Amino acid sequence: MARTKYSEQFCAYCNKETKMVLVGTMEGQVGKIWYKCTRCHYTSLLEDSMSSDQINGKLDPSTATVYKPCQCFKIGEAIFHSEWNDVGKVLSKLKTSDGSQAIVVSFAKLGQRKLIENLQEESILELTVTE
Ligand SMILES: [Zn+2]
Repeated sequence: MARTKYSEQFCAYCNKETKMVLVGTMEGQVGKIWYKCTRCHYTSLLEDSMSSDQINGKLDPSTATVYKPCQCFKIGEAIFHSEWNDVGKVLSKLKTSDGSQAIVVSFAKLGQRKLIENLQEESILELTVTE
């Protein structure tokens, strides 16, 4: 999917909407993009207004990994939650207070949710989805 290199963004230095050129994304930063103002040539890290469409628009439930609590997921992996009938993308990973692993997923319909991953068999009965 091609995205236009130029877009109208708010430049804090020109203090107005200017034509900005996309220069790149930041490692580990989802939804933030470096833009360079074509007027003052200052580079700013801006919110990617298209990020939710970009992230979720590409997701296809038929190619996404079906979410299972006992499975391990990668950052950037597309997952499908069959119970919620929603697709999402893994944004980050974290450890919960009880020592289990969780993933933060941006879902197309439900938005950002935390899900348990790498769950051990014996604790499946006690599964709770943290908010
Ligand atoms: Zn500018």
